[in-house]
Amino acid sequence: MSSKQFKVAALAGDGIGPEVMREAIKVLRAVEKKFGFTLEITEAPVGWAGIDAAGKALPDATLALCKKSDAILFGSVGLPDRDPTIPKDERPERAALLRLRKEFGLFANLRPVNLLKALSHACPLKTERQGDGIDILVVRELTGGLYFGQPKRTEKIPEGERAIDTKVYTTPEIERIAHVAFQAARQRRKKLTSTDKANVLENGVLWRDVVTRIGKQYADVTLEHMFVDNAAMQLVLRPTQFDVLLCENMFGDILSDEAAALGGSLGMLPSASLGATAGENTFGFYEPAGGTAPDIAGKNLANPIAQILSAALMLRHSFGLSDAAAAIENAMGKTINAGFRTGDIFNPNETSARKVGTREMGDAIAAGVHA
Ligand code: NAD
Repeated sequence: MSSKQFKVAALAGDGIGPEVMREAIKVLRAVEKKFGFTLEITEAPVGWAGIDAAGKALPDATLALCKKSDAILFGSVGLPDRDPTIPKDERPERAALLRLRKEFGLFANLRPVNLLKALSHACPLKTERQGDGIDILVVRELTGGLYFGQPKRTEKIPEGERAIDTKVYTTPEIERIAHVAFQAARQRRKKLTSTDKANVLENGVLWRDVVTRIGKQYADVTLEHMFVDNAAMQLVLRPTQFDVLLCENMFGDILSDEAAALGGSLGMLPSASLGATAGENTFGFYEPAGGTAPDIAGKNLANPIAQILSAALMLRHSFGLSDAAAAIENAMGKTINAGFRTGDIFNPNETSARKVGTREMGDAIAAGVHA
């Protein structure tokens, strides 16, 4: 038992955000009781909810709350049909989400994709390619590489125009993301596949060298290198070979979405974006992979699992509470195995499946934590 205390900023946002956040907090309260730690959870508006409450997608008070918290549990923001007169830079996706990512220097993006055997019908791959279930963690570098390197511009040339993007990585940038990936692998099946394009890119050669060197500090983790084009193919041919998949920014952008498709539903996919570690704690931003799902918002139809698993990632990566995180993940697995299905993962051919709403799914997982 521990008597640790942590401060959480809970920013539910728009659309299905408040509904799924309510269930995540319910499950956190269940696990908190069982494992004897204390979470000080403070809710604050963001997105259109922030604009409605304080005239800004990221109100000053919400940002101030985030700064004094140990982690941010985020829902999602943005409603495409709301007020088109508001300029792009003030709309929630940029003014809240991108601003928060920048403000907290979130350089590591973690996307676990876990296809449970019971949800095999929701996966686009044939069942024989799914093995005993797919369980991959994509670790993506988030603040370097081609998206941020300079020069970055489009210039006129006699024949028309020329667009320039620059891919830059430094040793420290590769080292810190490699450490995140190796540490995550240590808590899983201890295999790390690092992707690169070392056959044609200088960046790939440096990436491979640095990851190999850092790997020597993690002798218990098996390291393999794979060219990124082959990794894209292997993900759909034999996804069960992967445990942790380490990628630079753009490769990770692409491969994490490819891997996400294997998980069956956006409603099942959590994510973590990690910043710097101070002492024992790593600041992190935890959110579902999906958006605000306006088509089903307010109807008790959303799958809360992505938000609940995001809360589990927060316990593991920011607070070091791996047992409590595993308790949530196990309770989710038991709930799925017991046949609970929200609409997005429901298959009418499954005779033992029971269609439930957002609230009932959250209740069942919270009860599973206690069991
Ligand atoms: P979306 O992810 O909101 O929805 C895509 C589809 O997936 C919809 O059919 C939706 O019903 C379904 N879906 C998503 N989450 C679900 C869940 N938990 N349970 C069941 N079904 C779920 O993407 P979109 O429709 O392209 O975007 C809607 C809004 O969300 C836009 O304003 C977009 O900018 C925003 N968005 C925000 C984030 C974020 O805050 N991180 C991410 C993506 C999109």
